[in-house]
Amino acid sequence: MWGRYRAARRLLLLSLSRTWNQKSWRSGSANERALQYKIGEQIHGFTVNQVTAVPELFLTVVKLSHENTGAKYLHVAREDSNNLFSVQFRTTPMDSTGVPHILEHTVLCGSQKYPCRDPFFKMLNRSLSTFMNAFTASDYTLYPFSTQNPKDFQNLLSVYLDAAFFPCLRQLDFWQEGWRLEHENPADPQTPLVFKGIVFNEMKGAFTDNEKIFSQHLQNKLLPDHTYAVISGGDPLSIPDLTWEQLKQFHAIHYHPSNARFFTYGNFPLEQHLKQIHEEALNKFHRIEPYTAIPKQQLWDKPREHHVKCGSDSFAADRTKQTTVSVSFLLADITDTFETFTLNLLSSLLVVGPNSPFYKALLEANLGTDFSPDVGFNGCTREAYFSVGLQGIAERDIETVKQIIGRTIDEVIEKGFEEERIEALLHKIEIQMKHQSTSFGLALTSYIASCWNHEGDPVELLKIADNVSQFRQYLKENPTFLQEKVKQYFKDNPHRLTLSMSPDESYYEKQAKLEAEKLKQKVNVLSEEEKKQTYEKGLELIALQSKPQDTSCLPALKVSDIEPTISFTELEMAFAADEIPVQYCAQPTNGIVYFRAVSSLNTLPEELKPYVPLFCNVITKMGCGALGYREQAQQMELKTGGMSVSPHIIPDDSHLDAYEQGVLFSSLCLDRNLPDMMHLWSEIFNNPHFEEEEHFRVLVKMTAQELSNGIPDSGHLYASVRASKTLTPAGELQEMFNGMDQVKLMKRIAEMSDIKPVLRKLPRIKKYLLNSDNVRCSVNAAPQQMSQASREVENFLKGITRSKKERKPVRPHVIEKSPEPMPVGRERVNCSQITRKLITEPTFKPCQMKTHFLLPFPVNYVGECIRTVPYTAPDYASLRILARLMTAKFLHREIREKGGAYGGGATLSSNGIFTFYSYRDPNSVSTFSTFEKAAEWAQSGEFAKQDIDEAKLAVFAAVDAPIAPSDKGMNYFLHGISDEMKQRHREQLFAVSSDHLIDMAKKYLAGGKSTRGLAVLGPENPHIAKDPSWVKR
Ligand SMILES: [Zn+2]
Repeated sequence: MWGRYRAARRLLLLSLSRTWNQKSWRSGSANERALQYKIGEQIHGFTVNQVTAVPELFLTVVKLSHENTGAKYLHVAREDSNNLFSVQFRTTPMDSTGVPHILEHTVLCGSQKYPCRDPFFKMLNRSLSTFMNAFTASDYTLYPFSTQNPKDFQNLLSVYLDAAFFPCLRQLDFWQEGWRLEHENPADPQTPLVFKGIVFNEMKGAFTDNEKIFSQHLQNKLLPDHTYAVISGGDPLSIPDLTWEQLKQFHAIHYHPSNARFFTYGNFPLEQHLKQIHEEALNKFHRIEPYTAIPKQQLWDKPREHHVKCGSDSFAADRTKQTTVSVSFLLADITDTFETFTLNLLSSLLVVGPNSPFYKALLEANLGTDFSPDVGFNGCTREAYFSVGLQGIAERDIETVKQIIGRTIDEVIEKGFEEERIEALLHKIEIQMKHQSTSFGLALTSYIASCWNHEGDPVELLKIADNVSQFRQYLKENPTFLQEKVKQYFKDNPHRLTLSMSPDESYYEKQAKLEAEKLKQKVNVLSEEEKKQTYEKGLELIALQSKPQDTSCLPALKVSDIEPTISFTELEMAFAADEIPVQYCAQPTNGIVYFRAVSSLNTLPEELKPYVPLFCNVITKMGCGALGYREQAQQMELKTGGMSVSPHIIPDDSHLDAYEQGVLFSSLCLDRNLPDMMHLWSEIFNNPHFEEEEHFRVLVKMTAQELSNGIPDSGHLYASVRASKTLTPAGELQEMFNGMDQVKLMKRIAEMSDIKPVLRKLPRIKKYLLNSDNVRCSVNAAPQQMSQASREVENFLKGITRSKKERKPVRPHVIEKSPEPMPVGRERVNCSQITRKLITEPTFKPCQMKTHFLLPFPVNYVGECIRTVPYTAPDYASLRILARLMTAKFLHREIREKGGAYGGGATLSSNGIFTFYSYRDPNSVSTFSTFEKAAEWAQSGEFAKQDIDEAKLAVFAAVDAPIAPSDKGMNYFLHGISDEMKQRHREQLFAVSSDHLIDMAKKYLAGGKSTRGLAVLGPENPHIAKDPSWVKR
């Protein structure tokens, strides 16, 4: 994978994990053990250099270094069972051949101890890992994994160490992962030679995203002196210049322990990790000087400008407003942690939320659709930078935008920031330190990666409370502290880049032409002998890819290592305001209350339905009661950790033709702020504002822009939603809310000259949704907070309106679904139950539909969906294992390795839809025949018991993934799936056998057996164009 690892960039996204006891964090055994290390102590070739407790994050950091090689090591001890390992190398390419990215892929293709092909992907099926991946950033490459199982940790560590330090780097791996010349049909030397390779296609796909093109140029041009001037992921036109020799050379220098940083996190003992890392890798090396440091950027004496071209946005109705422009400023060295902390906060004050000066000045100027990409603080490079601008503007407005930016900076220097906004931001940090996620280890490793990469001190970075108090102190001593920073880094800073980007109708055509020229160059120099070799190599690669694999060298967990039963979450049910069900779940939430509610859409008139996602998007942002939208945003930032609304379509667990439709309200706040947050919800329900037309327009444009920018990343999801549209009654609603239909509707609204008719629909939707007619609530909080919480929820529910006369559901068939009775011996306290009203369509007939969404991308996203059975049906468990088995043993090889797509596979969704998909795929029609072959393969039963066990492990890794305290009980509240049902599902999974799988393949996947839908997002396609059974959109 390539790209900036988003979490790494934002201090404010730091979120925490798992369960701990706040009072006795030191007494926890992991912290206690860590605090006992002595400076200078020698452990398995490592020396302890520093031991630091960070109480606000409930962790202890141990810093070490390896004596013989100089490898750096950071261990973070914390009472968290989701342990993480990562190794990070500083990788500083000086060209755009994508060498670090191709290397990242290739080292995972086999190593000395594990010489089988692709041990990384094989381990996905032999482990209960909660995360496994690899990332190539601009200046480092990171290999992280996490798991809750100690045996699994050792297994994965062994595979990761061997991959990174002793990879085979075979030439055939380089061809498969990087690039190669091969006949279009490798078996037929008469077909033309073309470029193939996974990274080659991945990068072609990545640069269909105009935001990525812009971000890439921004970094290249603002930091032009060294490694940041090139594309670490690879420019598709430069990738074919990379040789296998260069790849091996790059590995020898960069993947050396002397250039490595190891990180471990969690409650497993440190000694064991050190011993294994020393013995399996580090003691085979001696120290080298890798010379990978990145020099400081030479500062400019005057600002620069640059212009680039991109593909045109195929959804934009207004072709004249597709230009993007931003102004970017080089900031401080990121190893200066406090300065970076300050500049990060300052950047948030400048651009985040409707009260920020740039939101007011730029977004509300009605010039563009949204901020430019990478707006705000960027801390991934040695020197951080700040960027601000607009996208979706007319080319002639570039100068206007620049002037506004300059003027806004002057105003900020003059007026400064309101104290309340600074408080709101510090409050946000407090919440984010307390909110627990299940991937804290991963968040930490990416949070410290960039700073540590440049010899900064990661421990300083973790002392967030110190940074906050120092910040408060500076501000107290000097009230114009922030204004002075704005003057220094913005006003008086000549190292400033204006970057603009505009579309070129023939952009993709020109790119294709350049690629064709490159291809010609490469082919023309081949002798006849070399051409013959190329053909033979293609056959050799196919043969190798098709050969059955002996993976017995790899370590593996067994199905017997999976916990046979799960522990059940205690839930308490009660009725509030007479008859509204409320679910209470007491959890160690660390001082935060989570409140959610679901309201039904059953009475909403059909013609208003397409506007529900838009309603959800704006309802907490338009103002309420006495608060205008700015004051409301301020209150939400000061008193809550966020309040949001989203559409909610939930399939029934036992009938494919029934579903629940509603909207979900979600929010969180510190315990002390619950009354304020519930008051805000009351005002939103009772007195929402719908008057601010201009503000509404800003929100609509931003939403539309985000949706169309998201297509290159989520194309396979759009294809799947479309392909399942006609298979179940809920399918149409899914497409309406989450599919391409919604994207197109939003784009259309964003282009309307008169937006009032749409705005007027919102109060009508409000009447049906924001009342207590069909609502249910849930609270997750600490046990001692529950009585206050139930009072607040009661007050809220009493205060919102109930319709005077009962409204009839719009669809005639509604069934009331009660949860199953509790088994004997297990009772819910105050046992009242949530009854859900489901829509059903007894006469629904699924039908086949094929859709091609024509997009000007050079790659395809393919989806094929098959209607199967609901969650509680016995076949569901077998189909779930089958999907995993087909992905691991057939589709991955055929679609990714042979076909050159970035990804592909099969999944079974909770709505009973079995989906085949591919992602960034150079093929489309032939991918459908691969799906067909996969079904035949499954019916033939050509898989072993070991293969089935591996598929089970992979499925259980997902089923048993850790759940954060904020999300406990949500499966029941949202989906109606109790722990008992989940346990029954687990037992069905354990019981799946080879015969079941073959039966499933015959029953559901064989041609002609089930109704299926197909969809492709991608370029013009002659086969599809000729076929009248396809709908072209
Ligand atoms: Zn990649």
